[in-house]
Amino acid sequence: MIDVGINGYGTIGKRVADAVTAQPDMQVVGVAKTSPNHEAKAAVKREYPLFISSDDRVEAFDAAGIPTAGIVDELIDTSDVIVDATPSGIGAKYAEDYLEAGTPAIFQGGEAADVAEVSFTACANYDDAQGRASARVVSCNTTGLVRLIEQLDEPFGVDRVRATLVRRGGDPSQTGRGPINDILPNPVSLPSHHGPDVQTILPDLDIVTVGLKVPATLMHVHALSIDLSSEATPAEIRDRLDASDRLFLVSDEMGIDGAGKLKDFALDAGRPRGDLWENCIWAESIAVEDGELYLFQAIHQESDVVPENIDAIRALVGEVDAETSQAMTNEALGLGL
Ligand code: NAD
Repeated sequence: MIDVGINGYGTIGKRVADAVTAQPDMQVVGVAKTSPNHEAKAAVKREYPLFISSDDRVEAFDAAGIPTAGIVDELIDTSDVIVDATPSGIGAKYAEDYLEAGTPAIFQGGEAADVAEVSFTACANYDDAQGRASARVVSCNTTGLVRLIEQLDEPFGVDRVRATLVRRGGDPSQTGRGPINDILPNPVSLPSHHGPDVQTILPDLDIVTVGLKVPATLMHVHALSIDLSSEATPAEIRDRLDASDRLFLVSDEMGIDGAGKLKDFALDAGRPRGDLWENCIWAESIAVEDGELYLFQAIHQESDVVPENIDAIRALVGEVDAETSQAMTNEALGLGL
């Protein structure tokens, strides 16, 4: 069994913890938090040993009646691998601690690429991450782009990608974020950082991205145009995308016209927290004009990186190859809608 510690038990950390618990070859040995809020209580209810970020927080947890198992340093020492899911920028502050303890670490996409030895998406570069001391699971948007491009590249060849990312303003619980009633070019300087982030995994890819932020919390939506090097019909592309368990083709007859119905669908399907771990690609949107493929996909920002974190754990400290790990993760979580 791989002993996994999770530093940061928020949007991503709590999902990764449950996903680890679902796997046959790994277990959660503890999760760490700074504040004794409802998520801390939920961690205790799920029987995850709860560690605190520093000694001076002990009183606050005691006052809230939340039992704790120790300080995060102890969790780092006793884990075979740490998944850092602290807020953007905090992971970099812990990087030295992980290194000193000799505990391999997985960071998230909010950190700069140089926080880890390698940026990671399982379908693209699992082998590069094997046995490394650290890896960074790229952001939700980057993960969604890399998965799609990789699935198309082998049979058809991807020459050039242009993507417009319509991004949610914040997660449902991020009450302080916006816009509330606006449409923001974001970042306003073009192109956006997402293309270079994809290139941390696919360095030779010709990709340019632009982004906007809208008053939504449910998902991101990407509008893509992709130059293919060989001819492909929309039907061939649909079949190819349908073959991956991490891509979900939304068929015309489902009547799913946007992110709202996708989330409703996920809840009806019994998905924990209404999560959609797969890229959701509208089959009807797939069109080819003069060798250029067009499509829309929706990305559930809170959960598409979760299976990637599980594969990153196996890449760093496990003993299975890329294909086996992805198959194990998919089966344990129930990917492939
Ligand atoms: P979050 O704010 O929801 O959760 C962060 C957790 O870390 C909280 O439980 C908080 O108590 C804890 N924490 C804060 N400071 C800490 C410290 N010093 N030590 C230990 N724990 C601490 O954040 P999130 O949305 O889960 O984001 C985590 C990372 O994942 C970021 O790098 C983010 O960019 C990335 N990410 C987020 C999303 C998303 O949509 N939320 C998607 C993909 C990647």
